[in-house]
Amino acid sequence: MKSPSKYLREDLSKLSPYKPAKEPCVIKLNANESPYDLPEDLKERIWERVKRESFNCYYDPSCDELRQALAGCLGIEPDKIFVGSGADEIIYDIVLAFAGPGREVIIPVPAFPSYENFSVVSGARVIKVPLLLEEYSTDRKWRLDVLKIKKYFKKGTPQVMFICYPNNPTGDYFEEEDIIELIDCFNGIVAVDEAYYEFGGRTFINRLSDYPNLVIIRTFSKIFSLAGLRVGYAVADETLIEEFYKVKPPYNVSLFSQIAASEVLKNVDWVENVRRKIINAREDLKTKLEGISGITVYPSSTNFLLCKFEISRDYVYQKLLEKGILTRKPEGEGMENTLRFSVGTPEQNEVLIRSLEEILKGS
Ligand SMILES: *Cc1c(COP(=O)(O)O)cnc(C)c1O
Repeated sequence: MKSPSKYLREDLSKLSPYKPAKEPCVIKLNANESPYDLPEDLKERIWERVKRESFNCYYDPSCDELRQALAGCLGIEPDKIFVGSGADEIIYDIVLAFAGPGREVIIPVPAFPSYENFSVVSGARVIKVPLLLEEYSTDRKWRLDVLKIKKYFKKGTPQVMFICYPNNPTGDYFEEEDIIELIDCFNGIVAVDEAYYEFGGRTFINRLSDYPNLVIIRTFSKIFSLAGLRVGYAVADETLIEEFYKVKPPYNVSLFSQIAASEVLKNVDWVENVRRKIINAREDLKTKLEGISGITVYPSSTNFLLCKFEISRDYVYQKLLEKGILTRKPEGEGMENTLRFSVGTPEQNEVLIRSLEEILKGS
């Protein structure tokens, strides 16, 4: 008998299969989705267009309409934009194109888990550099360990570095000067993940002309409410974009997803309204969380809040789940006893606050 385990890749043995919790819940605050679905009339416009297409034929492999629309919004040539099946595909394509066997990827941690997982799948070696936490009287800031990262630049020759800006799961921006200092002396591809760009407004897109080794990652899953349709994109120099086309699956974005993303981009007023609602809800939620004793809240420029508890997070997580609220336990350096809450609607946030008050009072 041939045992299937004999044929597995040994270097993947430490990866755990991505099968996230599908706990039954009433309020889903674990994946930083938007709490607002697209309005009915916008959905209707998308159906109407999709209906007229031929499902039997492959759709546009280079997403021309969507790239044109994005180019208009960003003030950037369409040839500097690449569209993928979610930002996750963009991360995959980056490590396939620029990392791979015999190469190294440097990741400040904690960070979005796909950077490490996909790098390992590509065959690359991963170097993780823990963030530094500066605690002032009221402010708490996660910083890049610039000195340590720069040591790795000299020691080995990493080919790819990921910077999540603002960082998931810690929630806020790193110092811009620190990132610039790193980009200035790094001889490789710097991928700046701006999945939460719209909630904080800072970007490295305008630095692309200074740094041709920069790749900006964006997504339609957060502010644009399209997590279920899988659309993300990269912005970079044409030379790098050409490499994406070498590694991507041929028809990576479905016709449905391309059309939906293009239509959502025409509804800037709706998106702006959602943006304002979520930011207001975030600030309100933050103030109320800070009012509960036993919780430390970190600053956020995203649609989620990272909180540290004085008691066991597993207990709080489980108690919240019993009340129908699904949250996230972030992994990695410094994340002990933390939970991450997506910002929901004001009503959902109210339920979260009341539940936490009860749980911590009873503990
Ligand atoms: C949500 C998220 C993504 C993934 O977005 P998709 O487009 O849904 O694949 C990428 N990076 C970060 C930091 C995220 O939080």
